[in-house]
Amino acid sequence: MVKIRVAELNKKKIPEFSSLLSYFTLRLNAAETVKDCVDELEKVSENFFESDWYSYISEEEKFGTVLKRKTLDFAMWAAQKHHLSITPIDNSMVLFVPLFSRTKNLGVLVMGIKNDVSEITRGVIDVESFLAFETSMIIENMKLAKELVKKNKYVAEAKYYLENILNSLKYAVVVEDIYRNEEFSNIPYRKLITNEAGLRSKIEEMVNNAFVYRKEIAEEIEHDDVFYSVHVVPVKLSSGLKVVASIQDITNTKELERLQKINRMKNDFVATVSHELKTPLSAILAYSETILDSADSLDSETLKQFVRTIKNEGEHLKSIVNDMLDFSKLESDSFPMNFKRVNLIKLIRESYEGLKARAQEKGIKFELSLPEQVVSAYVTADPKRIRQIIDNLVVNAFKYDNNPSPEVKISLLDDEENYVVEVYDNGSSVSQEERDKVFQKFYRVETMKAKASGTGLGLAIAKEIVEKHRGKIWIEGDENECVFKFSLPKKDWLTSPEP
Ligand code: ATP
Ligand code: MG
Repeated sequence: MVKIRVAELNKKKIPEFSSLLSYFTLRLNAAETVKDCVDELEKVSENFFESDWYSYISEEEKFGTVLKRKTLDFAMWAAQKHHLSITPIDNSMVLFVPLFSRTKNLGVLVMGIKNDVSEITRGVIDVESFLAFETSMIIENMKLAKELVKKNKYVAEAKYYLENILNSLKYAVVVEDIYRNEEFSNIPYRKLITNEAGLRSKIEEMVNNAFVYRKEIAEEIEHDDVFYSVHVVPVKLSSGLKVVASIQDITNTKELERLQKINRMKNDFVATVSHELKTPLSAILAYSETILDSADSLDSETLKQFVRTIKNEGEHLKSIVNDMLDFSKLESDSFPMNFKRVNLIKLIRESYEGLKARAQEKGIKFELSLPEQVVSAYVTADPKRIRQIIDNLVVNAFKYDNNPSPEVKISLLDDEENYVVEVYDNGSSVSQEERDKVFQKFYRVETMKAKASGTGLGLAIAKEIVEKHRGKIWIEGDENECVFKFSLPKKDWLTSPEP
């Protein structure tokens, strides 16, 4: 800090000097440009120096009298040394007042003065240095303020730029702080969330989890038949932990995936069906040809056997065609039902009796287990369709039971409100992940395909029929058993519908 050596100043002039100083300070504070400041310094300096010209030089600007080479060199030197100095140049005195801040040179005020060197005391030099120091501070602040305004402008521009980019994205983006305040959201997000409290709360739940577990979470959520891919990421910023959520509507992608899957399944289906039809047809053709060619030479027992095979294969063909007809009816939603009160026990017995011979042929232990005390189990049902389901489940059990000593059992259970039909086999079960899938159209378990042929429609048809009966169908069983169950309500829902 510069010390004014008051003793060296004329004491009488102190009050005058202090009012000069405060006036100068006021003027400096009102200055708007570097030139305003330098002009004020020059004006106040005229109180001590008799000047006839002045000039200011800095890196950014120059004004006032144009300096000669020699004067300019001195000015540079004074600026670098931070030395206020008075030097005679070409028969006149020149005063160099450097302006500088702690870190850099700001410029030099150069004044041509006419004073006698003896008049310029140490005190005058100190006062001039102090005034120069004050001017430097104001210029420095002015520069800093200018830089700050410039920086703020850059920040605002960058923010505007980023916001525009984020608004033009197909993604909806929201940033929340740890108190779940929304710090930023783009236009797509605001549009998406308007009137969608349900969707908002699902996203909120994910944001909460991201804060709690401090980890990135990605999920697909379905809301009002629209699929969204939601991605939430915790981000540590200097202002604290934030979570950025980005949401994208992926319904079209999902729909495309679904259509591609159906298309693949249909192609598989056509291939399977052609294969399924070809096998019995070839057998029928081969046997009929043999009969035609050698009818005379065949004994009646062989002939009967051949015709029986033709009939069986014909039945098989019929069942495939029926399945396909059922399927097309299911597809067009015109699956007629003929509901009446029927005794489920009777249907189970019929199915058991009908398939007993086939079990025997294949060496399968086939059993029927009915509760002894129950003689009738009435349900509202289409008897033909329920028979079809039981037959289907039993045929599946026959087809897919891979136990060397296969066992299949049909049981009837009573769970108060419903009767439950159970078809058990001791083969390997359907895996947990595939227990829903096997009820989809055309779905066949990959590892089971080689075991037996089929179209993958049986269970899809069964599910549709059971649901039309207000019942359910599902799979149970441990690893080494497969238990298909379906339930039918005891209540006569047709004549006494629910209120
Ligand atoms: P079809 O249309 O001729 O019945 P399918 O038997 O292949 O053909 P579904 O009855 O719908 O079709 O069965 C679907 C799949 O479920 C089967 O391909 C098989 O992989 C699996 N599955 C069905 N029943 C059993 C069972 N008892 N044990 C193990 N897997 C089974
Ligand atoms: Mg089947």
